[in-house]
Amino acid sequence: MRILLVEDEPDLGEAIQRSLSRDKYVVDWVLDGTEAWNYLDNPQVRYTVAILDWLLPGLSGVELCQRLRAQQNALPVLMLTAKDSMADKVTGLDAGADDYLVKPFGMAELKARIRALGRRSQSLQPQQLQLGNLCLDYATATVSVQQEQAIKQAIPLTAKEFQLLEYFMKHPNQILTRDQLMNQVWETEADPISNVVPAQMRLLRRKLAKYGCDDLLETVYGLGYRLNWDHAS
Ligand code: CA
Repeated sequence: MRILLVEDEPDLGEAIQRSLSRDKYVVDWVLDGTEAWNYLDNPQVRYTVAILDWLLPGLSGVELCQRLRAQQNALPVLMLTAKDSMADKVTGLDAGADDYLVKPFGMAELKARIRALGRRSQSLQPQQLQLGNLCLDYATATVSVQQEQAIKQAIPLTAKEFQLLEYFMKHPNQILTRDQLMNQVWETEADPISNVVPAQMRLLRRKLAKYGCDDLLETVYGLGYRLNWDHAS
């Protein structure tokens, strides 16, 4: 799970980041509302939950939340604030926040609320992704292919191949750069200059070809890769 934390108090921000990182969350921490919007507005990074402080330099937590909802972005938002009045809570929730935590709070409560928001975020995900004759099933973590009249066949993919194909299936007909794939499919500590993406692409393609999906993933030279899907077929 990747979390965006926007908190301008250095001690509090650092404590939250350290505590959540220990729980295996990937935490991007920023101290300024305007900079936070650059993170939220970046389609290349997807967060599971955003923790927004109310009062921030640049854009406030409420303004960030309003902007997200104006873009139909349903990212779960936990608002942090020192404001404990009912009117303020109503303002925060009306802006589209999902939950509200009043400072000072305990780390255990913060984590419990993040877990609850994370579960909600995951339950909004579909159980299956269908694209042409390919079907990706989240419950069983398998991808199967249906060729003409033949029976559905499961393609034996490794975890990484599955994650890579999932990302392509979510972005059909878009050119995805090596950096994008690196950011979304690999852990943050992975070596960005390694050849891991092209190597993994070769393996994935070889498997897909065995199941009749030879032309699914195309190399767009100098730019990246694209999953070609003809809506009409
Ligand atoms: Ca603040």
